[in-house]
Amino acid sequence: MGSKPHLIHKYLVLLGLLLGALWLPALPSLGGEGAREEPARTSLSVTPTPSPRPPFVPPTPSLRKTLTIVDFRVHPDGPLYEGDRLSFEVEVRNTGALPLNGARVEIRRGNGLASEILAEALLPELAPGASHRTVWTWVWEARPAGSFSLIATAHPPEEGLQVGDSVTRTLFLRPEGMLPEAERRARWAQAESRCCSHIYLTGTAAERDLPQLMAWADEAEAAVRARLGVPARLPTQIVWIPRLLGQGGFTVGDSLILTYPLSDRLPADLPTILRHELTHRMTCAWLEREDCLAHLPSFILEGMAVFVAGGHYRPEPLSLRAAALLRMGQWIPLDRLVEGFYTHPHEIGYLEAGAFVEELVREGGWPRFRAFLQAMERRPGETDRELLDRALRAVYHQSIQGMEARWLERLRGLPADPDQIADLQFTVAFYEALRAYQRTYDPSAYFLGTWLPDWREAVRERIVADFMREPEDPEGEWFWQRLQDARRRAATGDVQGAREILRALCERWANERGFGDRCFNPE
Ligand SMILES: [Zn+2]
Repeated sequence: MGSKPHLIHKYLVLLGLLLGALWLPALPSLGGEGAREEPARTSLSVTPTPSPRPPFVPPTPSLRKTLTIVDFRVHPDGPLYEGDRLSFEVEVRNTGALPLNGARVEIRRGNGLASEILAEALLPELAPGASHRTVWTWVWEARPAGSFSLIATAHPPEEGLQVGDSVTRTLFLRPEGMLPEAERRARWAQAESRCCSHIYLTGTAAERDLPQLMAWADEAEAAVRARLGVPARLPTQIVWIPRLLGQGGFTVGDSLILTYPLSDRLPADLPTILRHELTHRMTCAWLEREDCLAHLPSFILEGMAVFVAGGHYRPEPLSLRAAALLRMGQWIPLDRLVEGFYTHPHEIGYLEAGAFVEELVREGGWPRFRAFLQAMERRPGETDRELLDRALRAVYHQSIQGMEARWLERLRGLPADPDQIADLQFTVAFYEALRAYQRTYDPSAYFLGTWLPDWREAVRERIVADFMREPEDPEGEWFWQRLQDARRRAATGDVQGAREILRALCERWANERGFGDRCFNPE
């Protein structure tokens, strides 16, 4: 939870995807999230089991257990092949009553009597209840083909007095010759456009459509830079990957990781997403503050990206849409939304944030908005809400509540727009269902726990699987196809029909799986 990820993300900052999250390395792991796998159950590559996946329950609950493995993941996702470079993630929680110092975690490959340590690490000091996720990236070139066991073990500092934990997963490696042709032939390649370096995989749609992607990137970069008034172009790498991660885009330092193709999977517009991510890329340069991300609330960073992009997933009239949200009765009060921004309903949070920035700019103009961001200097221990409130009082001479009350009054005066309401209802329902899909069938893609290893190392090591391969699961595939039915229906203008599909999907899922809380109810 509060413990600092150790090897996890090498990135200093993972600025979230377009809808994405902007997250700092110490983002606490959300309880139970990503804990889809049941320990000691075969899952990865043999025949995908269409059996129910109940929410994660820690293995063999024992009150005396001092360390508990709450999550054990293997990457890449989907079927595994001989020669894959495997990565492991193990989250260990101190379930004892005392702080633990000197605990260890290891991964062994068990094979009958013989076993071999593939990875090990010392855990940092863990307070009672705290957990730590250890990540080993591309540590084992898996061979030979066939089934094998991986055993993750958490060892307490004093074995015998304290009880550790162990989780075994049985996996299957398909023969190398079965690797899909597209993946076998894919190589990393690079091309330059005016604004950016483009890194892509040969044989993919990104390679085929590269001239279009470059044109979009150049246009988006020029538009954002002009809007912000950033004089010099910043070195920017755009990595185009086939795998759908999060909602399609992430900004990590100087790099944008974007899914392509996107619009035949999500109701989203790639140029808008490019503008969003490029806004993240340029924000600190615009403010002339290298450490700006540490000082700005996520609510403001994402709101600014939505505003500069001209919409969240697509061009949108933000104030009208915020007024629609208000009429839908789903408004989240700002002082609540600002705290733990990424844990609130995603589309609602981003819409309010974008519309709020629009309101600030409407009220005081662009230079004042910039001064407002520059004035934000986070004091030690200060929360996002406190910081925002202090800066609003200093620059706009109003508290959060005062500002919101006046803003809401103005929004209530805007005309009701039934099309905005219908589209917003569909958008919220679609993306909630998408995230329900990801958390259940593809947790490595879920935006708060995305498996996004360092692309530069992938290029050096010629590793492509983590950026291409998708999970194989008949039940997940069924769910995915219903999502696509809804998306296509909405694209023809039948938003009501699309919502019916989503409602039926969520109801069936809730009834059969008991996961109702994970799937948004479109009503
Ligand atoms: Zn973002």
